[in-house]
Amino acid sequence: MIQAIRGMKDITPDETPYWHVIEEAIRRILAAYGYCEMRTPLLEQTDLFARSIGEVTDIVEKEMYTFSDRNGDSLTLRPEGTAGCVRACIENGMLHNQTQRLWYTGPMFRHERPQKGRYRQFHQVGVETFGFSGPDIDAELILLSASLWQALGLYDLTLEINSLGTSENRAVYRDKLVDYFSAHLQQLDADSQRRLHTNPLRILDSKNPDMQALIGDAPKLSDYLDEESKAHFAGLIRILEQAQISYTVNPCLVRGLDYYSKTVFEWKTDKLGAQSAVCAGGRFDTLVEHLGGKPTPAAGFAIGMERLFELVKDLVEPKHLPHAYLIVDGSDAVIKGMILAETLRKRLPGLRVVNHCGGGSLKSQFKKADKSGATVALIIGEDELSSETTAVKYLREDKPQEHMSEEELVNQLSNLVSNIR
Ligand code: ATP
Ligand code: MG
Repeated sequence: MIQAIRGMKDITPDETPYWHVIEEAIRRILAAYGYCEMRTPLLEQTDLFARSIGEVTDIVEKEMYTFSDRNGDSLTLRPEGTAGCVRACIENGMLHNQTQRLWYTGPMFRHERPQKGRYRQFHQVGVETFGFSGPDIDAELILLSASLWQALGLYDLTLEINSLGTSENRAVYRDKLVDYFSAHLQQLDADSQRRLHTNPLRILDSKNPDMQALIGDAPKLSDYLDEESKAHFAGLIRILEQAQISYTVNPCLVRGLDYYSKTVFEWKTDKLGAQSAVCAGGRFDTLVEHLGGKPTPAAGFAIGMERLFELVKDLVEPKHLPHAYLIVDGSDAVIKGMILAETLRKRLPGLRVVNHCGGGSLKSQFKKADKSGATVALIIGEDELSSETTAVKYLREDKPQEHMSEEELVNQLSNLVSNIR
């Protein structure tokens, strides 16, 4: 039997209702902060990612799904959404003399080792802002994400922040870091030895527990920041304090992508093992120019939806079960039932009613009604056809069965819709 590709999973109907709850909360909160949705293609030219993410990052070095199409062009399935969003904003003339607050969602593709919370196709909701250079927008992004955790009942995520300063700051720091790690070469794992001269800051991001002490004692980027970056970071901290958002400054937080500058942040959980980052972002003031646009300050973040799903699935209660399951006895009842259900759905927007299809005994239909999770069973048999009524049986309460006219039924079900929806 042909199976799904390793690291790419199906999201089955027992899970999608939870995704809907999460997605609806995200849409509601993004709208509340004035963010608009951007949709871009899943495929982009390979160069876009190589140029924006950086040639010596894990993503570009070994995680991208890259192939030649039938014209021989090198294309890549997007590993993240920022590059495509920036490309689209430049291409659609959305950045010149304007500010933007945008978001997007969809699958991302990275060829990494699959494990819980780490897949080869996964989903992100990304948020990007353009044209705002101050720490106020950094704070807004953090407050927005905090509102989302609150809306989903997640109270145990922790916020880590850091400043990466400018690329000039990092160039000076990079030399200090290479000196330090070179002096401890034998303590570096193979990955870090490789990164020592290509991308030494990434060593700070290593998840290898054996290297944490060495990393903890490394020189700190904060000692090499320029005055403006320091003031920016202080400005962010002032807002977070006033807004009573708890945070820790993590000097080793450098983020995996090359394009960040100044503020970076991550929301973390201790419930998903090494896959601890649920949401990550920061400022990327040079990326727009780097991709051919006019210099435009920018900041954003991305949420890992599978990780969020794992954390939230026991906390939220999706409202997806049918209100009513319609049981029909005999071919005339099937027709009457179909027409009645159509009328009910039109008269009661939001009503979820499932028609029984496929025949079968009353007993087996009642079993299906029960299994569907519906609140009531509506029954049409010979008696109901001749009296022009519908029998209503409460499946979750100990109440006697009733017969109702269409008007009475609409009235009764309207209570269910407003109570349950
Ligand atoms: P990690 O350090 O866990 O590899 P990252 O720094 O590569 O994460 P980003 O590129 O910042 O991640 O992506 C933002 C978020 O997307 C992450 O915080 C995480 O929640 C999620 N994410 C990243 N890679 C994966 C993956 N392979 N599977 C599932 N979720 C992922
Ligand atoms: Mg990664």
